[in-house]
Amino acid sequence: MTTSKKSAKKTSNPRPHIGNAFEVSLCTEVNQVCPNCSSALFISKGGKRWRNYEIAHIYPLNPTADEIELLKAEKRLSSDANHEDNLIPLCFPCHNIYDNPKTIAGYRDLVKKKEDIIKQRAQQNVFSQYHLETEISEIIESLCKEDAQFEESSLNEAKRVDEKLDGTITPFAKRKIKNNVTWFYLFIRERFADLERSEPGKAVLISHQVKTFYLKQKMLTTNQQEIFENTVKWINSKYSSASETAAEVIAAFYVQNCELFE
Ligand SMILES: [Zn+2]
Repeated sequence: MTTSKKSAKKTSNPRPHIGNAFEVSLCTEVNQVCPNCSSALFISKGGKRWRNYEIAHIYPLNPTADEIELLKAEKRLSSDANHEDNLIPLCFPCHNIYDNPKTIAGYRDLVKKKEDIIKQRAQQNVFSQYHLETEISEIIESLCKEDAQFEESSLNEAKRVDEKLDGTITPFAKRKIKNNVTWFYLFIRERFADLERSEPGKAVLISHQVKTFYLKQKMLTTNQQEIFENTVKWINSKYSSASETAAEVIAAFYVQNCELFE
């Protein structure tokens, strides 16, 4: 928002008082860096931390006549300009560039970035709602043991994975899943069998939990790449000690085992 344009503004809505917790959550959503230039949103100087950002309205709070005209056909993230979906922290220079003057390209770019954030926020809620038994961590840890030995599966199995994956997943991800199935499927199946012997029903329960999570994902998107990545993030969100690589191996196991992309 610039003060110089105030006279040209059609209406004058008050800027909201943004509470500390709310502001922190907006900064956390962008990983504490400016979404346009990656500058840190907080800087340390003289033993203190300083704000290096302003909260920007994606659709202007008090649009000028020019801005109303420019953005009249554009989608809005909220009918209320002060809604969190319409707010994003920008560093001072980027905020200035964004507002002076507003451009269609700049507006669409920020809308897209905020939409991704909103999607991610919704996923975080799903992650916390869908339980995964803690025993999965034993399987993950067994992958990382020094004496772990992996037996290669037949080519046929990796080929079956091919049939389940469609064009919405990248060739790169497809190749990784196939490699993971080839090298780790038998190993993980054995670990789940061990678990089932020591705690009957546990491995079956975990596979049902993965299946339920997948069915929920399928309601949110048909994009296999997104579903696979979200499954990996979900497994990771349950166990901070889980490496992303190990979570990818587990997710690939469930592709082969038919809980994912059946
Ligand atoms: Zn910036």
